[in-house]
Amino acid sequence: MSLFRDDLSAIPAYVPGRPGADPSVIKLSSNEMPYGPFPSVQAVIAQGIGSLHMYPDMHATRLTARIAAFHGVSADSIVASNGSVAMIEKILDAACFPGSEVVIAWRSFEAYPIAITVAGGTAVPVPLTPAGGHDLDAMADAVTDRTAAIMVCSPNNPTGTALTHRELFRFLKRVGDDVLVVLDEAYIDFVRMVDPIRSVELLADHPNLVILRTFSKAYSLAGLRVGYAIAHPDVAATLRAVATPFGVNSLSQSAAIAALDEADEVRMRTDFVAAERKRVAAELAALGFDVPRSEANFLWLEMADTEPFVEAATRSGITVRAFPGDGVRISIGSTAANERITAAARLYAAR
Ligand SMILES: *Cc1c(COP(=O)(O)O)cnc(C)c1O
Repeated sequence: MSLFRDDLSAIPAYVPGRPGADPSVIKLSSNEMPYGPFPSVQAVIAQGIGSLHMYPDMHATRLTARIAAFHGVSADSIVASNGSVAMIEKILDAACFPGSEVVIAWRSFEAYPIAITVAGGTAVPVPLTPAGGHDLDAMADAVTDRTAAIMVCSPNNPTGTALTHRELFRFLKRVGDDVLVVLDEAYIDFVRMVDPIRSVELLADHPNLVILRTFSKAYSLAGLRVGYAIAHPDVAATLRAVATPFGVNSLSQSAAIAALDEADEVRMRTDFVAAERKRVAAELAALGFDVPRSEANFLWLEMADTEPFVEAATRSGITVRAFPGDGVRISIGSTAANERITAAARLYAAR
């Protein structure tokens, strides 16, 4: 006898980046930043420790107001969460009926199929284009009267490809307003392309759009778990109603506020990553790899048999994230770490 729903046994395991038992091994498997938290953030966390016996501000009022000012929207459009993955779960829990379908690009973020299954929905995966991008026409074609939501990940994890504003604009027009479109922009700060998505502008005409952001990547706060949604006030009200009470802890709230004041530093850090991404991608291309154009802090190498590359990476002192059968994802790290990526690729190419 199972104590839980039978369909939950089909949940694929979320594979975290291996932490590397050997401290000389550099972890390039979880898209973490090669920089620590900002000093200003460390200072507010130290200050906040003495108040940990108190519950945090339930609706993260100060943080929400600060995020709203950052984006030039009203505070009632913002809902903070305990990491953006928690927000993905809440959105799908709230949107899915038994038998609901959720259209996703595939391969995309591995948390999506898990969250969809837990919500009682069925994932409808739409293959990526040969270039590793979302096939938006095919995704729109996959919408039925059972579709509860469409997940759009740009830049896409794990391929790194990003949509243009024009592409997303056309997609939203085509899909219409009665199905939720969840736009996951975890890697938005690394985008350096022509016609990048200006998602917040799209909210006025598309109340079914929910934008997700996180402090885990460019803001170097993955360990604190803070993310948020930007949405039409009516949608935001529902997300607030279903939120975990006191879900964002007090240290995270003040840290995220301080992090938003570090725009110049965020720009410097993401400029470094974007420059290194370009350099490493060019070196990999010169070695014969077909690297999709990444707008994120990682590169994707498509390969059916991932084990030889993982082995070459291990011998070069890095861990990468393998998706057996599909390819490997390598996070851009420090200059020293990135040297090891090309060393691993050279080993692999020479095998
Ligand atoms: C890393 C990542 C996130 C961030 O999740 P948090 O829960 O905020 O740490 C969200 N979406 C995608 C696609 C990611 O790769």
